[in-house]
Amino acid sequence: MLAAMPDSAPSPVSAGGPALRGSDDACPGTLRLHRADDGALARVRVPGGVLSADRADALLAAAERFGDGELHLTSRGNVQLRGLDAACGGALAELLTAAGLLPSAAHERARNIVASPLAGLDGSPPVSGWLSELDALVCGSAAAASLSGRFLFALDDGRGDVDALGADVTLIAAGDSCLLRIGAEDEVSRIPGGEGPRAALLAAETFLRAARDSGAWRVKDLPDDVRAGVRTDVRAELVRTVRAASGPSVHRPRPRTATPPAPGAHGSPNAISVDVPLGRLTSTQWRLLTATARRHGDELRLTPWRGIVVPGPFGRPEDAADALATLAAAGLIAAPDSPWTGVGACIGHPGCAKSLSDVRAEAGAAVGPVGRLPVYWSGCERRCGHPHGEWIDVVVTPDGHRISLVRGERRDPPRTVRDDPAALAAAVASARA
Ligand code: SF4
Repeated sequence: MLAAMPDSAPSPVSAGGPALRGSDDACPGTLRLHRADDGALARVRVPGGVLSADRADALLAAAERFGDGELHLTSRGNVQLRGLDAACGGALAELLTAAGLLPSAAHERARNIVASPLAGLDGSPPVSGWLSELDALVCGSAAAASLSGRFLFALDDGRGDVDALGADVTLIAAGDSCLLRIGAEDEVSRIPGGEGPRAALLAAETFLRAARDSGAWRVKDLPDDVRAGVRTDVRAELVRTVRAASGPSVHRPRPRTATPPAPGAHGSPNAISVDVPLGRLTSTQWRLLTATARRHGDELRLTPWRGIVVPGPFGRPEDAADALATLAAAGLIAAPDSPWTGVGACIGHPGCAKSLSDVRAEAGAAVGPVGRLPVYWSGCERRCGHPHGEWIDVVVTPDGHRISLVRGERRDPPRTVRDDPAALAAAVASARA
């Protein structure tokens, strides 16, 4: 399931925490709210997307007390609170701090970590140890506080799902070792698994030093020669500090397509997974998910594809089936043959002033047969929260809806449809087939 949470033309409206980053890193956070057309917006970082049931309760309490009462999932497994009172910053920070969702004010926007949502649940190795260690290392590093809110770490259990998301620093499980990828480099360093988090932080700190002059926010934004230098420097530092990566690097191209967990039961079943239509959860749906988590593993994992994995144990397959049926009845996507599977959209009108139309309503109106490719609707050319890999791009322009197939960095010639909802739905269905 794909859906969107955008940075809709933000401008700071309140802050209640530490010194803030430079004005050109406009990424919203918890201590730096941003103004959208539907009120202020806060983005709460949830490293690895992992939430205990208690923390999930706290997020809902924040949404109901200060915002529109809904939880909006982002393409990094974070949560956005929308429709906030612009003056709520201090009280919101207090609530989230008490719940453990704001462990370091200085690092709140640097804790961007995605992790394979099914890690440890369907036969793959867990990455929870890496996750907690890396989060603690990031929060303990004075340098890391200056990472951009756009910088991303990925912890991949070896299946390649979050490796495909184009993170700045990726750790990939590989038996007793792990592979460290910097940006989109095809050559990765092999290091002992236990050294992964330290190596990931080291790579981020090396990036920060190299980026000082270029002003780059992400590895991909560095000039080619500087990026190559970062790779060389990280490798040299790894050899020196963790006595690792002294062998030849490994050729492992980044996967082109990210494969989200399919809605349904996983691992016999050790988990269930649901997708969230357009990434927006009502308070009723959130309470239901939290209650399901409490009955089983006491955990929710928000995925970078706007889905939610509920780890078990579930005991019998019937228990997982019952839980899925209950969530489906509440409007969540619990089976891969839902017409909503693979449909995403940015917030669009009326939440975003830049939007040329209500793309969520349009996406809903065009929902049809399940397509082979995901589709993503954007209200303007910014395409906030768009997917990666191969997908169908529907963007609203002054000339109509432009539909094109995107494959990584390549885009096929578009087709434009004007003022004809039926023709638009048919064109989107044909493009996805
Ligand atoms: S309309 Fe444009 S700026 Fe607004 S949320 Fe959509 S893609 Fe982002």
